[in-house]
Parts: sequence; structure tokens; C-alpha cells
Amino acid sequence: MNDQVIQVSGVSKSYQAGGDAALVLRDIQLNVGRGQCVYLVGPSGSGKTTLLSILGCVLSADSGSVEILGNDVRRFSPQEQARFRREKIGFVFQRFHLFDALTAAENVCVPFDLLGRPKSSSRDKALELLAMVGLQDKAHSRVTRLSMGQRQRVAFARALAGEPELILADEPTASLDAESGFNAMQALKQFCRELDKTVVVVTHDSRIFCMADRLLRLADGRIVGEQAVAPSAGDVPRPSDLFPVV
Ligand code: ADP
Ligand code: MG
Repeated sequence: MNDQVIQVSGVSKSYQAGGDAALVLRDIQLNVGRGQCVYLVGPSGSGKTTLLSILGCVLSADSGSVEILGNDVRRFSPQEQARFRREKIGFVFQRFHLFDALTAAENVCVPFDLLGRPKSSSRDKALELLAMVGLQDKAHSRVTRLSMGQRQRVAFARALAGEPELILADEPTASLDAESGFNAMQALKQFCRELDKTVVVVTHDSRIFCMADRLLRLADGRIVGEQAVAPSAGDVPRPSDLFPVV
């Protein structure tokens, strides 16, 4: 079995802007192995979301090769891309994109409904996933009654519902305060490690950089540096180790 989940080589991407093509990704090389937790960091406008969208088969690269889980996704038809996204990739967004009218458990069940899974097994699985993110006692609360940090954990549980191999998160802590952002990312890291999931997080929140196995820095559409950060399992630093308490 191929243990590379992401193999990207020579990828470029431009957007049309008023008749001109603006190049926003330039010759990107990126390999990510199974179970790794990779953070893409860099200033606003450096191309992070564009790269994440290419990894998630939401956007197509202009050139280069993009293999996700051994699939040459640039060859996929739009239908094949949609199916691949639904079955293999879990997405997490800055603003959670939960359904306000639904409970936490019902939100987590949404991907099961889309995949046509039976209701009763979906419910059990949703409760299991919510327990993994520490929200077992909030399963039947409407998400509007939860704190921002708890809502993002619901979104993490939902991202895992379809048992995707790859989790992609775009600025997942941008709506959270320091401590709930840290706790949510720690939960994400721990359960992805337990389930051997691969995670790519886009962020410019330096408070959570310590949670990455690898930190890749983007600037002006290029990967300009990489840092290994990996604290060993069970040795994840606490916020108080990182930020002085004032
Ligand atoms: P980041 O996530 O690092 O802030 P993005 O990938 O969102 O960066 O954007 C990279 C560059 O591409 C920015 O200059 C942005 O303005 C531009 N851009 C992003 N999306 C579009 C789009 N749909 N059309 C035109 N330009 C875009
Ligand atoms: Mg962005």
C-alpha cells in the first residue's frame, strides 16, 4: 500500500484578474505520508487556501501533478471529483458551516445521510465521534447553544463522519479564543493520531504551530521552508507552556 497520501509536484495555479492571469502558486512540491499532521502557514494572500483547495479537489491545478491517495485527481471528471471529495476527504472551515437548526449529533449525521447510511447506525457513530471530541454530553444540544470552541469540535466530528482518509482544515481556529483554539486542535491531533488520519491545516495562528508534525511555510505562492515540530505522543505542550499567563 502506498503510504504517501499527498504527492504534489510542479503545481502552479493562476487566477484571471481583469484580463491578466495572476500566478498564485508556483512550482509546489509537497509529499505527505499517512498519519502526518501538516500545517501550511504564511501571510494572508500567500496561496494557502488555493493549495488546500487543490488538495481537496475543489480547484484544479493549471500544471503539475496532484496525486491524492494514489489517484491522479487531475484526470478525474467533475463527477469523479465530487465523489472522491465526499468519500475520501473531510473538510473543516473557519466558520464551522454547521446547521444552526440541528443538534450536534444531527450535524455529525449529515455526511451519513449524504452517503445513504441507515439512521440508527449513523446515530451511534455520531455519538461515538462526539465522545472522541469530548462532547458526549452536548450531543443533543442545538449547536447555537454551544460555545465557539465546542462548535468547531462538532465540525471536526462531522469531518470524520464519512471516515475520510484526509482531513483538510482552513483557518480552523480563526473564530476561537486562544485556549479553545488550542484545545480544539489538540483534540483534532489526538483523534487523528488514534485513527491514523492525515491532516493538513492552513493557519496563520502561531499559537497552534506546536501541534504540527511538520510546518511548511508559504510565501508568494511558493513553499519557502519546512520545520519539523513534532512533540512526541503524550507530550503535547499546554497553552501555559507557550504563552505567559498575564
Ligand atoms: P491565503 O489563503 O494564503 O490568504 P489565497 O490562496 O486565498 O491565500 O489567495 C492567494 C492569492 O490569490 C491572493 O492574492 C488572492 O487575492 C488571490 N485569489 C484567491 N482566490 C481568488 C479568486 N477566486 N479569483 C482571483 N484571485 C483570487
Ligand atoms: Mg486563506
